[in-house]
Amino acid sequence: MFGATLGDIIGSRFEFDRGNHTKEFQLFTKRCSFTDDTVMTVAVAKTLLETDRNASEEELKKALIVNMQKLGRRYPYAGYGSRFIHWVFAKEPRPYNSWGNGSAMRVSAAGWLYDSLERTREVARWTAEVSHNHPEGIKGAECAAAVIYLARTGSTKEEIREYVIKEFDYDLHESLEELRKRHRHDESCMDSLPKALVSFLEGNSYEDVIRNAVSLGGDTDTLGAIAGGMAEGYYEIPEEMIKQGKEYLTEELKEILCMIDTGRTDE
Ligand SMILES: [Mg+2]
Repeated sequence: MFGATLGDIIGSRFEFDRGNHTKEFQLFTKRCSFTDDTVMTVAVAKTLLETDRNASEEELKKALIVNMQKLGRRYPYAGYGSRFIHWVFAKEPRPYNSWGNGSAMRVSAAGWLYDSLERTREVARWTAEVSHNHPEGIKGAECAAAVIYLARTGSTKEEIREYVIKEFDYDLHESLEELRKRHRHDESCMDSLPKALVSFLEGNSYEDVIRNAVSLGGDTDTLGAIAGGMAEGYYEIPEEMIKQGKEYLTEELKEILCMIDTGRTDE
């Protein structure tokens, strides 16, 4: 499962709106790195892999907090938000009513590991609630995971779009081009989800979706991570991209990501 991670790595060098808002750029350079989006995606993935598929809310949340704190502390300079890094080191971490896009960028494993859309959304909600328990934070995570589930189980993009509008009420009327015009760094779910969704819906391959997301500017690594997670549900990721992306990861991060077989890659 490399969809979110590759988007994070590719978008990393343009974060804080440092790019030129174009789809023409080199995917991997020396200035790329994995960031908090990858570390937390791995922490959530590890938790969901290690717990029973029918685990209770209490069990899952407890394990999520343990793994998110453990990995967060092992990679403390990955670029967390100031409130989240405080959460990572807190003795008794509590949710802090965040609507930040951190809930959506880490959730992709929930889109792959469960047999129903209802369970997918329930688990996605719990992964958000341990820190990002504002309704918009929860909504962002549920939506990102639901899109992956729908994409990987054969829904068309039109069906996915309709579901997202009906269930989550995101405004998807702006085109990629219109969104690009109002680029700015914004770390909210309310800003990032529609952008990631339109990047996915308007893309024609995994790589194209990532290029769409990064071209929007702003929080490019997280837009890449959310859109990349969705795109992996729908498209095969080119083997060469996975090979290149893995060069940026540590052994333990790679190992956990390889444990979720998406059937979309040859890893
Ligand atoms: Mg980041």
